[in-house]
Amino acid sequence: MNATAAAKRPAVQLSTVIPVYNEEESLPALHKRLTKVLSNITDDYEIVLVDDGSRDRSAEIIESLAAQDPHVVGILLSRNFGHQIALTAGLDHARGDAIAMMDADLQDPPELLPRMLKRIAEGYDVVYAQRRKRAGESPFKLFTAALFYRLLRSLTKVDIPLDTGDFRVINRVALDSVLSLRERNRFLRGMFSWVGFRQTGVLYNRAARHAGETKYPLKKMVRLAIDGITSFSHLPLQFATWLGFTFALLGAAYGMRVLYVWSLGGAVQGWASTVLTVLVLGGVQLVTLGIIGEYVGRILDESRRRPLYFVRRVAHRDAPPAPAPPAASLVGDLDEDDEEDPSP
Ligand code: UDP
Ligand code: MG
Repeated sequence: MNATAAAKRPAVQLSTVIPVYNEEESLPALHKRLTKVLSNITDDYEIVLVDDGSRDRSAEIIESLAAQDPHVVGILLSRNFGHQIALTAGLDHARGDAIAMMDADLQDPPELLPRMLKRIAEGYDVVYAQRRKRAGESPFKLFTAALFYRLLRSLTKVDIPLDTGDFRVINRVALDSVLSLRERNRFLRGMFSWVGFRQTGVLYNRAARHAGETKYPLKKMVRLAIDGITSFSHLPLQFATWLGFTFALLGAAYGMRVLYVWSLGGAVQGWASTVLTVLVLGGVQLVTLGIIGEYVGRILDESRRRPLYFVRRVAHRDAPPAPAPPAASLVGDLDEDDEEDPSP
């Protein structure tokens, strides 16, 4: 694992990792409900809240929770890196022997954790929560999600469980395995399946969002879906090969017909069929080129080997206060009025 930050502080029995992006309205309720559940399980727990470059007051709320509650650790990222990377950042910093991860909006009920931990105690390494029902989601989201999980399953060899998000509890061995995969295009729920180990699911009814609205607009959902498919399947790349064969066969058959018509002395016809063929083949070529582009772009991303994220500040009760900006002593008491406005 990425031990730099985690190694300095002692291990705990249980970590809960939560990525947060503009969730100021949910955070206090989340902290309250989670604390109630966790303190009933053990005293030796931590709540790792990762601020993913929120533009509301989430970061301040996390700082103040960390200042009051010694169980809270705040990981403030330098900008918005996206849900999967924010979750990874939290997992990198988690010190638990067992680690739970969930959303900040209370769609994943903390009250399910004892049941999930029981399965871990029984010897399972990964316990995922599988949605039986989802409240408060649009029919469009329900339909596209159901379609996506089934498409993904039919495209990949990895046994990714249906209707399962990122709500899961895992043990240290499984976590360290997943954290050793440092790929940029992260589809964590697939990665957790890919590493293997003993896995099982717990069924639950997904609640509606506590407050605010989804941080997954359609664009981000499509991105996540393509990440999921490209990370675990090469089948779309083979799509071009199959289409190529199909059209070559069709072309040969059509060629025979042309020869036959010619042998009968047929006239020059067929403007429509020519144009149609050009259009269809042009479309197919662009689509397959696009598919290849999706993979090439990801190869480029991976080959740059940039760090996955940057941490602006780690906040917990024993953390040193944020240092003053180094330039403070250099500027002295510069008069604000002297400043020139650089904007035209
Ligand atoms: N999230 C994040 N970064 C983002 C988008 C979302 O950390 O760029 C967090 C968000 O705060 C929440 C979780 O990821 O805790 C899941 O997001 P959301 O609930 O909006 O997704 P949905 O449940 O609608 O699929
Ligand atoms: Mg949600």
